[in-house]
Amino acid sequence: MRILVTNDDGINAPGLVTLEAIAAQLSDDVWVVAPAEEQSGAGHSLTLSQPVRVREVGPRRHAVKGTPTDCVMLALGAVMEGFKPDLILSGVNRGGNLAEDVTYSGTVSAAMEGCLAGIRSIALSQVMADYTAGMEDFSTALRHGPDIIRRVLTIDWPDGVLININFPPVKPGDVKGVRVTEQGFRDYGNIHLVKRIDPRGFPYYWHGFGKEKLVPGHETDLKAMHEACISVTPLHLDMTHYQTMGALRGALTPLAE
Ligand code: MN
Repeated sequence: MRILVTNDDGINAPGLVTLEAIAAQLSDDVWVVAPAEEQSGAGHSLTLSQPVRVREVGPRRHAVKGTPTDCVMLALGAVMEGFKPDLILSGVNRGGNLAEDVTYSGTVSAAMEGCLAGIRSIALSQVMADYTAGMEDFSTALRHGPDIIRRVLTIDWPDGVLININFPPVKPGDVKGVRVTEQGFRDYGNIHLVKRIDPRGFPYYWHGFGKEKLVPGHETDLKAMHEACISVTPLHLDMTHYQTMGALRGALTPLAE
């Protein structure tokens, strides 16, 4: 099995070291094509207005001046042309990709891109108890990642489906279990901006984090994190909301052909 490893935190991120260690337990044919710089929040964007540069920085190791989507495209179309991977792993992200995070996430988008190319793709993210730089703890992803990936690879995997795995912010031995979950819901409509003043007196803003909204009765990825479980969520790229099609046809009938 040939594995392509990528991420959105950049080729020097500690989570990439973890993911390479996970991949090494699954195969000895592992390739890294990752962004030269951090691309968190890049979503599924790709670079169209300037050239995309790729640089070999070591054996089977390439840095791309671009987004995670660029990385997957460059890997499949250039770096690994003619010997495409059987599996794409993206992460391990520094922080969760839960609920609507998946629409902003470069980590998940790299897996989406792999999925679009017909390659089985998995996004992995580690929720942190402590986000202090240098204190990041990926040990839970490292301990549990390989076995979960092995098991996930045994299922019949439909086209257009990717797998989103999140590890809870607890020590490896304190994980309560593995749960198949649905994408949760946050309250991102409630925008949370942090306003600060620069040394010259002008305001500037950081995106802060909004409150989570737990929806009772749903086995969501968010709930799994709260209950110290690993979440495994199947996502698909068909974003059509089929239940709304009937009502919409009704509303548009006088205008329809
Ligand atoms: Mn990230």
